[in-house]
Amino acid sequence: MFEKVLIANRGEIALRINRACKEMGISTVAVHSTADADAMHVRLADESVCIGPPPASQSYLNIPQIIAACEITGAEAIHPGYGFLSENARFAEIVREHGITFIGPTPEHIRLMGDKIAAKQAVKEVGIPTVPGSDGAVTSDTEAARIANQIGYPVLIKASAGGGGRGMKVAEKPSDLMLALSTARSEAKAAFGDDAVYMEKYLQKPRHIEVQILADSFGKVLHLGERDCSLQRRHQKVWEEAGSPALNTAQREEIGAIVTKALEKIGYLGAGTIEFLFEEGHFYFIEMNTRLQVEHPVTEMITGIDIVREQIRVAAGSPLEMDQRDVVFSGHSIECRINAENPFTFQPSPGTITTFHAPGGLGVRFDSAMYDGYRIPPYYDSLAGKLIVHGKNRNECMMRLRRSLDELVVGGIETTIPLFQQLVREPDIHNGDYHIHWLEQYLSKHGA
Ligand code: ADP
Repeated sequence: MFEKVLIANRGEIALRINRACKEMGISTVAVHSTADADAMHVRLADESVCIGPPPASQSYLNIPQIIAACEITGAEAIHPGYGFLSENARFAEIVREHGITFIGPTPEHIRLMGDKIAAKQAVKEVGIPTVPGSDGAVTSDTEAARIANQIGYPVLIKASAGGGGRGMKVAEKPSDLMLALSTARSEAKAAFGDDAVYMEKYLQKPRHIEVQILADSFGKVLHLGERDCSLQRRHQKVWEEAGSPALNTAQREEIGAIVTKALEKIGYLGAGTIEFLFEEGHFYFIEMNTRLQVEHPVTEMITGIDIVREQIRVAAGSPLEMDQRDVVFSGHSIECRINAENPFTFQPSPGTITTFHAPGGLGVRFDSAMYDGYRIPPYYDSLAGKLIVHGKNRNECMMRLRRSLDELVVGGIETTIPLFQQLVREPDIHNGDYHIHWLEQYLSKHGA
């Protein structure tokens, strides 16, 4: 096992990784920008190295500085968390070339899944169902029109290099198609430096259901069940549940088996998530994330498995100690993303936290790097904390979420707490009756 791990991230996820390391007896190195000198992730790590000025491009994305921090401190492995360099195949390669272990999949798998066209093709070949659409990139306007007519409108144009919901455009009818294509191409070029786009049938009321997997270097692949992340705004997840209110045991086992078999064939290593849209009993692959996800705690709550610990263990070459039959789902879990944002306009609201109180009690987990007097810097994303609750069943979980939200106090900045206080009282949410467009429709009726 590693003696020292460098955590190439900040905020709540850096704390999360630090916790797993501490429980495994591993010492930790934090890296930080000058804006984060007082941050909790720096305070809780054993050592810390300043890697640059506030902009992420000069600090958390600064590969030479991060490698140098490893060499100075003698860290043997890097955990990238999520975001920043976590899905950068070149970074994983450079880390490997320096004799350091990247806690994650191989650079080859990161690269394959980062190219959404290649990923879709690769998973199709190993038996995963995909959304009907173009076979690969759409290169000409006439080809696009032909495929759109074949699959039927509305269609969705997606960037091959896409991520974070960017570079996606819907064409409702034939006359929208050319504009959707050209805007998706230029947005993709500007955001990712790659204008390759592909086309999919635009599903009207699907749920977003994703399957968590863990794989070791001995060819064992396990699934840890699904998460339902259908409550989204601008394709960004806001609220996540495990399990999905829409799946029954047979469907869970069916998709779990398809995914584990597929990833065995691919020879995947580490933690990963296969994302699907689910409509009328059918699953359609949309992408694979080759990293730890923000919403991983809901899976931990219902399985009792520490996903970060397993990531570290398999990266160090240890086998997974459990089998699929040992993965037992117990109760229900929900996560709310507490962002430093106006709850209805979603305008970022960085600033100083004047009062802070985290909720507690049975089945309540609050993952956050906030503290009284902490100044949220304006340079990074607005996720300030994650409230995760667990209950024996979904009903108990909802009641616990309601009271936990009422206990949580974050003063001095605007947060998304009031939105969740409203959502938790909505009949559709209470009944688990929602799809990926539900929240935007709700916000247009009830938002500010
Ligand atoms: P990104 O990598 O940008 O997150 P994804 O492919 O994971 O892109 O899609 C993000 C979200 O966009 C999905 O959760 C869903 O809400 C929506 N979406 C993606 N593909 C489709 C589709 N074919 N039909 C309808 N909605 C879609």
